[in-house]
Amino acid sequence: MQIINEPEQMQAIAEKLRLNRQLLAVVMTMGALHEGHLSLVKLARERAGTVILTIFVNPTQFGANEDLHRYPRPFEQDVALAKSAGVDYLFAPEAGSIYPEHYQTTLQCGAIAEQFEGQQRPGHFNGVATIVTKLFNITKPHTAIFGEKDAQQLAIIRRLVADLNLDVSVVAAPIVRETNGLAVSSRNIYLSSHERIAADVLYRGLCHAEQRLAEGELNLQKIVAEVAEMINSVPECRTDYVNFVDEESFALAERADAGKEYRLLLAVFCGSVRLLDNRKMSA
Ligand code: AMP
Repeated sequence: MQIINEPEQMQAIAEKLRLNRQLLAVVMTMGALHEGHLSLVKLARERAGTVILTIFVNPTQFGANEDLHRYPRPFEQDVALAKSAGVDYLFAPEAGSIYPEHYQTTLQCGAIAEQFEGQQRPGHFNGVATIVTKLFNITKPHTAIFGEKDAQQLAIIRRLVADLNLDVSVVAAPIVRETNGLAVSSRNIYLSSHERIAADVLYRGLCHAEQRLAEGELNLQKIVAEVAEMINSVPECRTDYVNFVDEESFALAERADAGKEYRLLLAVFCGSVRLLDNRKMSA
């Protein structure tokens, strides 16, 4: 595995691989690699002959009061994990080479980015869309793998690719969970052992909703209220939002049509840690 820090060097390598008719897949991360990230690398391996993993804690997607400086950066451990997962190129730039002096151009997302995570974190998705586009231009992939764990991000990236005619195929990877159902996340290390156990209520809430839809309950607001009550009854947990969206449009959904697909989105504080989870389900 080759480690590359400079955008121009990564671009030159990607260009040469393309000229040699190699299929390239990219997995973009902020590091602190875990089983979830490695499942994306595995999918990338199945899809392409060359796998590029990017590690970049993107400052422009963090708000002023968020955990940019506290975000874990276990680089040596990440290198070892990436190598054993079969990554060919690890692109890990410094912030200064991605956003040099005089940098000023950013992308502006549309309506999908203004709700849910976008409402809680103004500017977050503009930062995500900009860095994803830059990393597409630097790594020149045929395929890019993104996790369903960040369902709104995935929907926004699909829109970005379609709206800007980006020549890359986006593949969604299912959520990897711990044995109690808690979605694996770099932020789980901030949970106390108590909170980690309590946090299984997110998954239980998703399963409850899925079961209620399967039973024929079409009033999504009623299901949302039940899930919120379940979560808020756990002393360590407090809902930030619980919402159903239409799986196609990602628009807020309050009543279901039988046979259609919806996605329940959860953002929950467990202690001081904000956890995200979601699940697709059919009415
Ligand atoms: P992050 O490093 O948190 O920005 O995540 C990088 C990529 O890994 C994103 O596409 C995430 O959606 C994906 N990811 C993070 N956690 C998981 C998980 N538990 N299962 C599947 N994909 C994940």
